[in-house]
Amino acid sequence: MGQLVLKEGRERSLLRRHPWIFSGAVDHLSPEPERGATVEVVTKTGEYMGRAAYSPNSQIRARVWTFADEAVDRDFFRRRIGAALQTRNRLAVPDPTGQARGLDAPGTACRLIYAESDGLPGFVVDRYGDTLVVQALTAGSDFFLDALVAILVEETAVGNVIERSDADVRALEGLELRTGALRGAPPRFQVITENDLRFRVDLVEGHKTGFYLDQRDNRRLARRLARDRTVLDCFCYTGGFALNAIAGGAASVTAVDSSSSALALAKENLALNHLPEPSLALIEGDVFQVLRRFRDERRSFDMVILDPPKFAPTAAHAERAARAYKDINLLAFKLLNAGGILMTFSCSGGVGVDLFQKVVASAALDADVEAQILGTMWQASDHPVALGFPEASYLKGLLCIRG
Ligand code: SAH
Repeated sequence: MGQLVLKEGRERSLLRRHPWIFSGAVDHLSPEPERGATVEVVTKTGEYMGRAAYSPNSQIRARVWTFADEAVDRDFFRRRIGAALQTRNRLAVPDPTGQARGLDAPGTACRLIYAESDGLPGFVVDRYGDTLVVQALTAGSDFFLDALVAILVEETAVGNVIERSDADVRALEGLELRTGALRGAPPRFQVITENDLRFRVDLVEGHKTGFYLDQRDNRRLARRLARDRTVLDCFCYTGGFALNAIAGGAASVTAVDSSSSALALAKENLALNHLPEPSLALIEGDVFQVLRRFRDERRSFDMVILDPPKFAPTAAHAERAARAYKDINLLAFKLLNAGGILMTFSCSGGVGVDLFQKVVASAALDADVEAQILGTMWQASDHPVALGFPEASYLKGLLCIRG
């Protein structure tokens, strides 16, 4: 096994259980391992630190699999996968009939493995009913993909597996984008149940692995708040928030997205749940423009949801992203009736909660409205954040009320 020797003092972050080793922390490698292979990590003075996956192209030169002195083999992966599955299972609650409800219940969708947070850097697995969708986003998870998938299938007894390793971050690892069926005969579309609503998910062409599972809890909150309100759902994708608002008794729901295929699925999802179609107006368009048009038309709403795509993948993009967030939040405040609710999100890892709150505050100021924060929102609990790895936390939201 190759050895990765750290520069003097560069073991500090590892001692706090942060799994990333940046290129600048590496003193030398001997011998140079192949991409994705496991290396032993030692300090400059030869002290053992752990075993890591080597990634020659990435600024994150290695990701630690384990801080213990243990082999990184099938048994190791079985233990890690087993622990991740157990965590999700513990989040399920039995209903009075003894059926599991919640995260792990049959027919639902759930993130089973969330990469670094579950001790498996770069490896993401989402379960949609009886199909698993996997992503290998790093050299190490790519290197061991066959073994990881074999163990997953054994441990979950789910026979259909699709790979969706088509996220741009793979380019940073020197890996090509890759998709396709890995096991069984996975269907392209899978109907899942979330918060008692059914959604048809496109596992092949849909965003991410098909659905934004991270918003599950916040959609339920939207449902609770929507009663008798006129609701505007911006960046609605396949109708996650919009359908919850309708189910919660909204007076009307207007939903906007730029993707025609997402809107087509939103319409199907409406029918799937036997919700009355006239209550949902779907608009294909650019939210930045639609909000301006609504402002010019003097339209107003009792509840606005802003769930935009990632404007800032890293902190380097934070400034430009902040301008985009401010723009839509300012317009949203202007469209909000007195007493109206704003649910505003950022899924940009590069924009922290503090910066996001500042941006929303200055949006309210420039819109000349008084607003208060009623609560904060976060990613759902099947996207946990390892305490030593704050980078895993990316979704943040503010629940505001206009005075
Ligand atoms: N709220 C959704 C997830 C939103 S993801 C849910 O609960 O499932 C972000 C969405 O924004 C995507 O559907 C994407 O198609 C859309 N989008 C990206 N840029 C946009 C723009 N400028 N105007 C409108 N929609 C946009």
